[in-house]
Amino acid sequence: MKIRDILKSEEPHISFEVFPPKTDAGYDSVLSATRKIAALKPSFISVTYGAGGGTSKNTVSIATQIEKDFGVTSLAHLTCVSSTKEEVHRVIDQLKENQIENILALRGDIPSESEFPLPSHYRYASELIEDIRKQGEFCIGAACYPEGHVETEHKKDDIRNLKHKVDCGVDFLTTQMFFDNNILYNFLYRIREKGITVPVLPGIMPVTNKKQIARIGGLSGTILPERFRAIVDRFGDDPGAMQQAGIAYATDQIIDLIANGVNHIHVYSMNKPEVAEAIMRNLSEIVA
Ligand code: FAD
Repeated sequence: MKIRDILKSEEPHISFEVFPPKTDAGYDSVLSATRKIAALKPSFISVTYGAGGGTSKNTVSIATQIEKDFGVTSLAHLTCVSSTKEEVHRVIDQLKENQIENILALRGDIPSESEFPLPSHYRYASELIEDIRKQGEFCIGAACYPEGHVETEHKKDDIRNLKHKVDCGVDFLTTQMFFDNNILYNFLYRIREKGITVPVLPGIMPVTNKKQIARIGGLSGTILPERFRAIVDRFGDDPGAMQQAGIAYATDQIIDLIANGVNHIHVYSMNKPEVAEAIMRNLSEIVA
């Protein structure tokens, strides 16, 4: 099913995200986690794409199994900046062959200079989106950044670039994680004012261990509110307590979003079915 049709519903919905294994050896354990997440009947499950395309085979394969074996709509991520057009077209063809209808079209992070020269076939996600539109009848999602993308100095430039990207053929947007819902509400106000009208799915990350916090610190610009910092300070060294508190914090964010009329929320469940299950349990009377 196309995600743009799922998003027409006015009932609250939760979707989850998984990431593919870096090597084939890890495939079965990722699949087993994905099966448990699919059993929660989310509105869809997204499958990330390794920077540089290294895991493209597994992204396509897991997205296909989500649809065919678990009966849940899937969203395959696809990045372009480190790939040639031929490589990207090959992945699009594989998605088509496997009847995957939804693609999250991304530029990808620019690798450090020392890694390898970029093919320079695509500079921005908007160019990939135009290209996918020519390749078939896909429903296309794209990324957005309520706190601004790390490379853009001024948020207004980021929103101008976002408007151009959406106008290239985006059906919906998914946000980078944020920990203060007011940031999302402010962002929605600003993009609607600039004529960006497609549905926006807030991306919520349940932070369940200290390592994740170090990684979030690397996403410069992500504001960690005092209330969140206090939780990490108090529970960061106790894995069980941190997991419970992180899930409660994310649940709180989701309930506030739904209470404020945001019906479709994407949860970065990170191959952890126990986290996805706990979130769904907490929302059992709220989400159908
Ligand atoms: P773009 O939309 O191309 O934007 C990149 C930068 O270029 C921004 O600063 C933007 O303002 C600027 N820009 C855009 N267009 C123009 C223009 N025409 N002129 C001048 N400047 C412009 N990475 C992965 O490797 N794999 C994944 O699976 C993955 N999934 C993600 C999912 C979500 C929901 C999000 C939010 C991010 C994800 N990422 C993933 C990370 C993403 O690849 C990086 O954040 C990347 O740096 C930007 O990708 P983008 O598609 O947003 O780029």
